Amino acid sequence: MKKNYVTEAINLKSYPLNDNDSIVVMFSKSRGLISAVAKGVKRPKSKLGARAQMFIANRLLMSEGKNLDTIGEAQSLNTFSKIRSNLDKLSYSMYLAECVNNFCSNNYNKDENPEEIYKLIYSAYEKMAGSNTKEEILLCVLKFQLKLLNILGWGIDFNTCGHCQKKLDENSYFSFSINSFLCDSCYKNETGEALRIHNKIRLFLNELSICDFSVKTMYDDVVNMIVLEKCFNFMKKYMDNLTHKRTKIFKTLEAGISI
Ligand SMILES: [Zn+2]
Repeated sequence: MKKNYVTEAINLKSYPLNDNDSIVVMFSKSRGLISAVAKGVKRPKSKLGARAQMFIANRLLMSEGKNLDTIGEAQSLNTFSKIRSNLDKLSYSMYLAECVNNFCSNNYNKDENPEEIYKLIYSAYEKMAGSNTKEEILLCVLKFQLKLLNILGWGIDFNTCGHCQKKLDENSYFSFSINSFLCDSCYKNETGEALRIHNKIRLFLNELSICDFSVKTMYDDVVNMIVLEKCFNFMKKYMDNLTHKRTKIFKTLEAGISI
């Protein structure tokens, strides 16, 4: 017997199913990542069409199916319309969607708390839509990356060496083979790939990781694009390594990371 359920969800991706219908991948408040059929969305007068677009948050009436659920009704809660007015906002929003898809469509979400992740995506898109500068956009992305990892249990410990547990000082490194920071002496025995991380960058990322999403940190107004892009590239590399999936967007930024 078919069951109906109601949930809130944010659209992350969509692809065509046939001439009239699409499949929309969404992150829902109650069930995490779901894919559902959006019927008739490709018809010009479809009411659902506008609500099936990327990054829109809807309240949905869903009907369970054998393989895929179907969207019955959709009422939009937030269209985050300003995301679509700027290419940087659009690209970084697609990157966030890709991160959620990569982490939540495999075993990385064992202890996932869908409501917490839903709220995080919602806050990030809200912040992204309201951003006025590229610095604000990147701060939003960094907070999102750090907080998503914290929720999923993959958060980075910015204070202690992952090998000997010593408190980190001026000379710290990040090892991509053990996915944690190393102190100076443990780094000397490290054979895998490790990057020296400037002390200020480590403290900056730690601050972003622990502060509430909406709270302005002491760095928000003073941090520059060079630091923000280095931090973004570092976080992106760490996350791509964890999921063994390279996020497709921003490939060109990856060349020559050095922090
Ligand atoms: Zn150590």
